[in-house]
Amino acid sequence: MNKIDTVSDTILQSKRVVVFTGAGISTESGIPDFRSPGGIWDKSDPNELTYQKFLASEVSREKYWEFSKLMWPKIRDAKPNLGHYAIAELYRLGKLNCVITQNVDGLHQKSGVPEEEVIELHGTVKWIICLECGARYPRRQIHSRLESGEKVPRCGICGGILKSATISFGQPMPERETRQAETRSAVCDLFLVAGSSLVVYPAARMPLIAKDNGAKLIIINLMPTPHDHYADIVIYEKTGKTLPQIVEQVKAKLN
Ligand SMILES: [Zn+2]
Repeated sequence: MNKIDTVSDTILQSKRVVVFTGAGISTESGIPDFRSPGGIWDKSDPNELTYQKFLASEVSREKYWEFSKLMWPKIRDAKPNLGHYAIAELYRLGKLNCVITQNVDGLHQKSGVPEEEVIELHGTVKWIICLECGARYPRRQIHSRLESGEKVPRCGICGGILKSATISFGQPMPERETRQAETRSAVCDLFLVAGSSLVVYPAARMPLIAKDNGAKLIIINLMPTPHDHYADIVIYEKTGKTLPQIVEQVKAKLN
């Protein structure tokens, strides 16, 4: 029996399947992996982009918005790939409890997984938040202000500092999402990692929480991860190739 067969059987035998995704699934949709060597952060000084520097310096904020202005159209226009669609298909088949993602691009929702079943651990690029009063602005609104020449947009209500609703290096994790992810990880019976190198914490703790609570752990990633030795099955392959094969098998066996 090959690994694809075993994974599809494991999915069929499981009642609560959590899929955990990272940058690897989105690079196949043309979204750069910010944290890998050669990723887009390499082109600027990553220290400039920590949360602390962002708060402390207008120059850092100007660089941040310059970068955001450049990146947003790429993310806005990105399309889900076969890996995303395979996960959405699992949902339609009644075999997906939720997606926990480190990605901020919204591609799981675009592929058809309902908003409420996607836990975004590192936030989302879709919204801009005022750090003073908490007001939320749609990204396109702030983007058009940047396009018309504003360098560092401020909150229209209180004049506070605006920032993308994503989690930057050095910024605290969102409490609600982190708690939700921990709970779902603890109660699932299968935790499937797709396209994450499992090095960014606390996100990388989720598979361990699942495993410690008795779930099976499957990891699909192009490169080895530090958690491979905990996993029941590890597949070194692109998610856009492997996930559709797995879901095809699940479908075939359901019929
Ligand atoms: Zn405000």
